Amino acid sequence: MAEAGSFADKVKQQADIVRVVGDYVRLKKSGANFTGLCPFHAEKSPSFAVHPTKQIYHCFGCGVGGDVFKFVMEMEKCAFPEAIRIVAEKCGIAIPKPKERSPEERKENQQRTVLVEMHREAQSYFVKQLEGTLEGKAARAYLEDRGLDKDVIARFGIGYAPSGGDLLLRHLKSKYPEKLLVESGLISRDQSGRLFDRFRRRITFPISNESGKIVAFGARALGDDQPKYLNSPETPIYSKSNVLYHLDRAKDALRRQDFAILVEGYMDAIAVARAGFGNVVASCGTALAESQIKLLGRFTKRVIVNYDPDVAGQAATERSLSALLEQDFEVRVLALPAIGDKKADPDLFIKEKGSDAYQKQLREAPPYVDYLIGRARQMDLTTGEGKLRAVNFLLPYVQKVPNRILRSEWATRISQQLRLEEPVLRAALSKAAAERRSEVKTKPELVGRAAKPVERRLIRMLAEAEGFRRELAQHLQRGQLYLGLETEKIFAALVPASFSGEPVQPSEIGAMLEEKDRRLLFEILFEEAQEGSWEEAQSCLEALSRKQVERELADVQRGIEANPSGSALRELLTRKQELMRRLAAGA
Ligand SMILES: [Zn+2]
Repeated sequence: MAEAGSFADKVKQQADIVRVVGDYVRLKKSGANFTGLCPFHAEKSPSFAVHPTKQIYHCFGCGVGGDVFKFVMEMEKCAFPEAIRIVAEKCGIAIPKPKERSPEERKENQQRTVLVEMHREAQSYFVKQLEGTLEGKAARAYLEDRGLDKDVIARFGIGYAPSGGDLLLRHLKSKYPEKLLVESGLISRDQSGRLFDRFRRRITFPISNESGKIVAFGARALGDDQPKYLNSPETPIYSKSNVLYHLDRAKDALRRQDFAILVEGYMDAIAVARAGFGNVVASCGTALAESQIKLLGRFTKRVIVNYDPDVAGQAATERSLSALLEQDFEVRVLALPAIGDKKADPDLFIKEKGSDAYQKQLREAPPYVDYLIGRARQMDLTTGEGKLRAVNFLLPYVQKVPNRILRSEWATRISQQLRLEEPVLRAALSKAAAERRSEVKTKPELVGRAAKPVERRLIRMLAEAEGFRRELAQHLQRGQLYLGLETEKIFAALVPASFSGEPVQPSEIGAMLEEKDRRLLFEILFEEAQEGSWEEAQSCLEALSRKQVERELADVQRGIEANPSGSALRELLTRKQELMRRLAAGA
């Protein structure tokens, strides 16, 4: 929510939601609103509406809704601060320079800037080494041998770190202090304190952060040097778990195609990207970190995992699967078929079979459930012990699936496919399907609830009535008239917000509500309606208080029918008479 007086608040005050949404959706004026085809679900006739004065949007089809920032966050798959910036830009509101809070912070920022600059210099140094030196020639021959031609080398910024041992160091030494050289991770220090190049006799691959700045390098040994792959260490500008290789270039394709191909290393990512699949990212490590998954989730929630088919790759696939499922991703797994007797990683497969064959594999990649059952079926299922092992392999995944119905379908499928006749195993499975450690997240109900007309009118008047908003809120509060109603939560948010008599902000009320209530509130606010009057409000209040009495009367009646003891019965009868009198008097 935009804090009062903040820049976000200022942007919200000045922004025109119709104009911002209009950049993405063709809007037409329709009564007090603007309507168009919903950008969040496929439809032929418009059910998406924007309210120019309440500054909210709402889709009557799929139920999405919110304020201008929420809209931009959903469209651009970006975080709140980025949405503020985008809205400000679209509306021509000047963006203040971020304030640095303390001298330490300023120093850290400066340091980060210098480290990024150092990486840029290292990058052009590595590229020159590959282009113009004798050693580089050998490296180029190696790359060509692997099918990486001049264009690909240029496109992905591939370079070469020479074997000298201190050539990069000598190149950078004159400009940067020793301490920063070591902090950059490009230069290392041995036990005697001597500095030397971290990368020697290696092909270098620049690793960029989300905004395209080079923050690290991956490097592959040219000969048999160990390790085969060596990456930058963690530095002030690089944390392995916060970066996905190729994401900076994949963003558009990820949004457009709404799925990601996830591979293990940069060589695979390059192979897949140059074969025409721009929506590829690499985890550059054995398994995905949670922060990498969240980063990816800003662009798409659908992934095809295509890790190496070796044992390490399989283990990485399974670890990543767990993490992806927990974050509600839709996951498929591509295990490429062997080529001859060679297990195929994406690089080898595309080289041998071409991009059409790879495309076909992608299309046919099975959902993770089938992949995992397939893996379990490779285990020895002839003994009870073997079956137990297979079930134990699958159970943790079953439990990670957020949706209960899906979990139960899983359990049935596992029983069938593994031919589980043992009651013990079946019981364990259905128990796993029924329980889940963390609470099940349910999707918002897709059918709006039909609140009673009286409630709808009162909500509308609370939100809009200038003259009597405060009085109405006080009446509702004093009589506790909205307790037990379907719309109770909406009133509970609206009523206190109306005590001041100031206009309420629908998007802020909406932000306080659960999705289904937020949806109902917006539906009510978008309805065609006459302006309310105090007389109408009074008659709605009377109707509510009559409802309240009727509800209590029904409770009392149930109490009487439950055959209570003498004194309790007398009390209930007295209460009943009193309530009947009130009803007769018009409550
Ligand atoms: Zn929609």
